[in-house]
Amino acid sequence: MREIELIADADARARDYLAGIGERPPFPDQAARDGLAAFAEALPEQGHDAAETLRLLDIHGSPATTASNGPRYFGFVIGATLPAAAAAERLMLAWDQCASSYDNSPVAATIEKIASRWLLDVLDLPRESAVGFGTSATACTLTSLSAARRTLLSRQGWDFDGDGLFGAPEIKVVVSDTVHITVRKALRLLGFGTARLLIAPTDGHGRIDPDRLPPLDDRTILCLQAGEVNTGEFDLFPPLIEAARKANAWVHVDGAFGLWARASSRRPLTDGIEEADSWTTDGHKWLNTPYDGAVAICRDAEALAQAMNADAAYATASRDAQKNLTLEFSRRARGIPIWAALRTLGRTGVAELVDRHCDEAAYLADRLRNGNLDVLNRVVLNQVLVRCGDDENTARVRQTVVDTGVGWFGNTVWRGRPAFRISLSSWRTQHDDIVRLADALVTATTVSPFPRSTNHEWP
Ligand SMILES: *Cc1c(COP(=O)(O)O)cnc(C)c1O
Repeated sequence: MREIELIADADARARDYLAGIGERPPFPDQAARDGLAAFAEALPEQGHDAAETLRLLDIHGSPATTASNGPRYFGFVIGATLPAAAAAERLMLAWDQCASSYDNSPVAATIEKIASRWLLDVLDLPRESAVGFGTSATACTLTSLSAARRTLLSRQGWDFDGDGLFGAPEIKVVVSDTVHITVRKALRLLGFGTARLLIAPTDGHGRIDPDRLPPLDDRTILCLQAGEVNTGEFDLFPPLIEAARKANAWVHVDGAFGLWARASSRRPLTDGIEEADSWTTDGHKWLNTPYDGAVAICRDAEALAQAMNADAAYATASRDAQKNLTLEFSRRARGIPIWAALRTLGRTGVAELVDRHCDEAAYLADRLRNGNLDVLNRVVLNQVLVRCGDDENTARVRQTVVDTGVGWFGNTVWRGRPAFRISLSSWRTQHDDIVRLADALVTATTVSPFPRSTNHEWP
């Protein structure tokens, strides 16, 4: 089969997949998962036909997908993919650009620069910031924190690039007791040592309690959160960042999904966040762009550019070339689907997307409370954290509802007790989907009466 026919075949299969996304079960059934055995082949000596390879992928791969690109997937703040972003991604695949610098791809460098500007605009962060397009919030947190440490050490007169950490002044890190696991991972990879982190205690909402913030100094990185994964809550930025400013500490904000609140009517949750030094957020969660699309935003553009510099004699580039702002040297132009999403939604569309999910989450929480379920959080954003009576009943209700196919959502543990967590972040989710989900949860709860929990310590 010729290349063009093969690509057309892939496009047709992708079209069919998307056309049926609304009916697809949010999680593949056992038969579909058993079909994955078809891939258990030895590496072929002689290559197979490309069209046949695509067929195998579609016939046995498509049914075993989670329908996270559909309307009824409520796990992990996954987000679907907006049509405009998906379409831009497809064209990008044909271009196959290496988005390291202008010399490698004028179009990637130009559009990513515009996407950077638009991101700072829609998120209303300092316009002088550098924006590095990374694969994930994890990777972008890694780059941000390495810039943070390098900068703090440099202010101590320490040459991190030359001498590394041998004999270097100690840099302390303060994280909250609800810090995301990937921030811990980034810190671990950077050699901070998880046992040496200073843990800031949180209040009932999962926010750092400003009165119990460990002492900060000019060798401290303070990690804050915009959007705690269970409750969707935000740290109280003004007092925390003010304390950090006074101490000349570095403030990094993990806003993997929550930073987008700033582009919506929920903006007050983010008040003061603009005073931080660096921020990370994902496109592939709430902005509904394809994986892997995330950004590291650093107020001191030079700090990120120096930490991430990858200039070589054969490949020098400007300070703001993407290879000097991210981990990768060669990479796809992941800022382009982000640009396409922003251009298609506009400022208003981004706000509507975020607000709609927050409104639906509030509606869902009301329905569940009225239906005798325990909603453990205030639902300030798109996360609804739920228990129904005891641990066993909570697990039963979740499994019953997930089995009906009205939605998939995951288990979690909040304050030491099992719960489940419903996240709204797919652009495809409509009010009817939430009505059906609420009906199913309430029905599953009433079918088998359970002793209501008397321990209401959740604020
Ligand atoms: C998802 C998430 C991360 C990690 O993001 P990835 O893009 O998956 O690496 C970090 N922090 C929070 C709060 C998240 O929700």
